Amino acid sequence: MFTLSVCPKPIIAGKMKNIKISRFMKRQCDSNVSYLSLHGMNTKKDLRELSSEELMSELKELGAPSFRAKQIREWMWQRGAASISDMQNLPKELREVLDGKYYLSKAVLHEQQISADKTIKCAFKVDGDKVVEGVLIPSTKRMTACISSQVGCSLACKFCATGRLKMLRNLTGGEIFDQVNYLRNEALTRYKTPLTNIVYMGMGEPLLNYNNMMRSIQWITSPEGLGMSPQRITVSTAGIAKMIKKLGDDKVKFNLALSLHAANDVKRSKIMEINDSNNLAALSEALKYFHDATGTRITFEYIIFKDFNDTIQDAKELAEFCKQLPVKINIIEYNPIDDGEFQQASPERVDAFAKFLESKNMIVNVRRSRGKDIDAACGQLANKNKSASERVFK
Ligand code: SF4
Repeated sequence: MFTLSVCPKPIIAGKMKNIKISRFMKRQCDSNVSYLSLHGMNTKKDLRELSSEELMSELKELGAPSFRAKQIREWMWQRGAASISDMQNLPKELREVLDGKYYLSKAVLHEQQISADKTIKCAFKVDGDKVVEGVLIPSTKRMTACISSQVGCSLACKFCATGRLKMLRNLTGGEIFDQVNYLRNEALTRYKTPLTNIVYMGMGEPLLNYNNMMRSIQWITSPEGLGMSPQRITVSTAGIAKMIKKLGDDKVKFNLALSLHAANDVKRSKIMEINDSNNLAALSEALKYFHDATGTRITFEYIIFKDFNDTIQDAKELAEFCKQLPVKINIIEYNPIDDGEFQQASPERVDAFAKFLESKNMIVNVRRSRGKDIDAACGQLANKNKSASERVFK
């Protein structure tokens, strides 16, 4: 490891036209590596965090030709390089210099479980010891990857297993991308079906990790990455009004889902603390702003809980709230987590609820949960691999 202050880039750049570093400089750099390593300072940057322009400019400063940028991007976003030394078509000297300054953030498969209904839950490790989960959900019409954006979550929604985990850190764009890439390969090799949809509905609140979420989508959709259509991607938020407006300002092309779960503030605040600072009026205004800017129909996710939000009065409130925008409603069957504070609504209540909304000409889907036997269903992702994660009950 070395930094500009201890191994100045201009000096390297001067010798990099032919990717050569003097023995003296290499010794200096190596000694800096040892010094900083010994003192536990990680001064390397994540190469996957560089924009294409930043990568080009870095290579220019190092005196490397511009076509190297394309090769590096291919290794990072298509060929799955685990480290800079894997990039075999780069000259050794360039690899060494890059390796001294950069690392590649990676989410690496740690454990995998397959449900009786063919849902696959994967635990990915980041930093060697933190675990996030991603799920592949095959159905008759779709092959969906549900992925995580943070290690843990700070929002502590009452019904969610992830909300009981300590928020440890944001995932990098590369680590989010890796989950998609792995699940996409599983879909192809195990089920011989291409991935059709990606939902940011796993662990964490993606809008609180905005830049990295956007970077991951950039590479999922780029022809230099996975080349998927943004219309196949849905980002789901617990409701951060300011960031919903930012999505509108950024004119995103992917879909947006709001985890609504109750259409009155008193009930919603009972299960989602975030509603205290981002109430329904604020969310409604932000969603209108987003819709005006992008023209995209919004999806409302509505987990239906027994005796909490499953009555016709709740459905009426929901229909009223939906009037303001063109929306689609996904009613999601709840999967109780350990303490049983919330229970699954009865099938009769769910049917009556859905029928009421349909009678008001709303687009309604009832989603039965998948992967329940492996705790992969909605709201159940909680790193049950205790040896590899930190599980904290609030
Ligand atoms: S529902 Fe989403 S936002 Fe709420 S605690 Fe769970 S992961 Fe976080």
